[in-house]
Amino acid sequence: MRCHDTLFRDKRIVVMGLGRFGGGVDAAIYAAEQGGRVLVSDLAEPETLARSLKDLEGFPSIEYCLGSHAEEAFRNADVVVVNPAVPRDSRWLAQAENAAITTQINLFLERCPATVIGITGSNGKSTTAALTAHLLESAAARGSVPYGAVWLGGNIGNRPLLRCLSQMNAEDLVVLELSSFQTEMLASPGMSTKIALITNLTPNHLDRHGTFEDYCAAKETLFRLQSGTESDPSVSLFCKEDAVGREWFEKYRSQQGRTVGGYSAADVPKPLRESFTLPGRANLSNLAGALAIVRCLGVTASQVEEGVATFRSLPHRLEAVAEQGKVRWYNDSIATTPESTMAALDALEAPKVLITGGYDKGMGFLDLGRHIVAQVKAVVLMGQTTGKIADAIAKAGGSPVKVERAASLVEAVNLAAQQTVPGDVVILSPACASYDMFANFEDRGNEFRRLVRCLKS
Ligand code: ADP
Repeated sequence: MRCHDTLFRDKRIVVMGLGRFGGGVDAAIYAAEQGGRVLVSDLAEPETLARSLKDLEGFPSIEYCLGSHAEEAFRNADVVVVNPAVPRDSRWLAQAENAAITTQINLFLERCPATVIGITGSNGKSTTAALTAHLLESAAARGSVPYGAVWLGGNIGNRPLLRCLSQMNAEDLVVLELSSFQTEMLASPGMSTKIALITNLTPNHLDRHGTFEDYCAAKETLFRLQSGTESDPSVSLFCKEDAVGREWFEKYRSQQGRTVGGYSAADVPKPLRESFTLPGRANLSNLAGALAIVRCLGVTASQVEEGVATFRSLPHRLEAVAEQGKVRWYNDSIATTPESTMAALDALEAPKVLITGGYDKGMGFLDLGRHIVAQVKAVVLMGQTTGKIADAIAKAGGSPVKVERAASLVEAVNLAAQQTVPGDVVILSPACASYDMFANFEDRGNEFRRLVRCLKS
């Protein structure tokens, strides 16, 4: 039997922020299994957390404080495992003066025996992370490779990383997708990933980070805390197409103990480019990033040929949903920023009908307005941001775009269908979060898929 983790054994552990989608579940179960006295504390009510609470049902020793936090629990805690969504200046955290404050990712990095690859950025993280893991696995299936099992986790897929630790070995590889909240909370030098890649940086999550500079600093922690030696360097990979990526490439390239690489869509060899099924330059850039990672792990271009050809879009990311009457429908519900929607428009060449709009998180739409005027034949607007996007389109001037307004997604799908002729594409790419009309982006994308398939029949 393995020894208990001494950080937890007989200690008072507060898991702060369980989350609706299970963010704190892994830490709570791991801490309980390691002999900790676990209190799960969350400001949300039990009904909101139902899905995550269900996952904890088999662990009767775990206690709960839901709907509010209790200051006393934080004052008495030995360890607080903070959900990345908790603001750093939380007044309850300030009470935990005697506690070790950590996160699921930090706990994982401190304990993981395998080589970890961290992937962050504003857009393209999930695609690059999933693609990297797919290429590594497919190369391993084809023959001899210098690594063991490949694990994919972090901000993608909700894999219980801490509970997988006991199955991981030194020769394994872990591909971790990391959000800015997760990188910001990386704790100390050396506690970063052996290989780190950033896709790009555009203003996002400024409601939490304040300024673009602070947001960049949160992401840069991943690179700042990497440690390596001349004989065993860490690897930092930057996208040459991105202004911040170019800046950091120059900043880090001469540092000792670090191998620095730059990549861009233009680096992808022609045969791989031709067999890759994901549309658009942004996805080619994600492929270039994944290829840069696998190359530094000793995998050759010929070993990844099959993996490149067999990789398919992740659900809700420019996912081809149906072709109906020679009109192709794409679900890009994950696009919650104007930049992602612009990338989606750039990705598809056919005449486009766009369904966009959603929850208003205070972003500007002027660039998106110009993109719509330049690229789209008709747009159907929905959600809280309908008026703002309509204004941005009007301000952009240029050739007239047909603008329709829909009160629901079903109405949006029907209005979009009416605008199409054979050869067109219709894209749901909302440029906004979904909370005004749906539980989350998956819910929005699933509903879109269902509606489009009904249209077909
Ligand atoms: P993330 O995990 O960073 O949110 P995803 O891979 O899930 O990124 O893609 C999310 C959205 O961003 C999709 O709408 C996609 O069209 C767009 N996108 C993907 N890769 C890039 C990229 N390299 N640059 C800009 N936009 C991108």
